[in-house]
Amino acid sequence: MFSRTKSLAKSLSLDCVGCWSNIYTFYKFPYMAYNYLFASTYAASPYAIQKLIGVYHHNSGYAIEDIDASKNTYTQSGYDGSFMDLFALPRFSSENLTTYVTGSDKSRVEKEEAFADFEAAQKFLSVCGEEYGGKDLGEKFNCSVCKKCLRTMSGFYALGKLDNFREVFDVDGYKKYLGRRLGKWFAYDHGGFVRDFKTYAKRNGVKIPFSAYLWKWCVYSPYHFLVRHLRNSKFVRKLYYKFNIDILIHGYRNSVADKFLKEEK
Ligand SMILES: [Zn+2]
Repeated sequence: MFSRTKSLAKSLSLDCVGCWSNIYTFYKFPYMAYNYLFASTYAASPYAIQKLIGVYHHNSGYAIEDIDASKNTYTQSGYDGSFMDLFALPRFSSENLTTYVTGSDKSRVEKEEAFADFEAAQKFLSVCGEEYGGKDLGEKFNCSVCKKCLRTMSGFYALGKLDNFREVFDVDGYKKYLGRRLGKWFAYDHGGFVRDFKTYAKRNGVKIPFSAYLWKWCVYSPYHFLVRHLRNSKFVRKLYYKFNIDILIHGYRNSVADKFLKEEK
């Protein structure tokens, strides 16, 4: 990803500094701490180069109206610390470095609206989490089927701007399997984001196919229900990896599985 980031920086005439880190090695099964702490974890890199930058902007996960401490509980994605970043991150400021959360005044789709016509974003936007997990995306910037890709693509779709991002997303695949893709995304625990998407889709006259709800109710929601109840059982996880079910479903084995199997040895 660093080579892409360097190309982006070059296109904007900005400098680019990369940091290698062993930070992920500190999280052990069931890896919940990461989701609680990732904003402050990522602040470790600006700390290492604080004399160069002075200010660290961390993009808000949620709009301010969705920030609710009582929601800082288990979601289908694990525990989510994004609800408290707005309050926690400024506490990491030092004499040399100011750390804060930016963008809480906008919803996710409003943010997408703000840069949908920005040429650098159309060439370099990278939102996918699969590569970090170990999936080889080759030359592609985004897998176009994970929840982060679907969330972003759906926002652009609701804005009528998805075609602007053909260089970084599989737009034809998204449109061809629209009901299935939306159903998959709706089934994630993305309450505020889905609501935001529906608001914009309605405003812009973008139709949501009924098949999206069928995919959600009949396939993806039952699947997530099973995953949510079984994921923290070591026994089930062992069977899951032993019979290569992860590879059958996702097409690859991610770094969480590698780490788990290593810890089990
Ligand atoms: Zn993806």
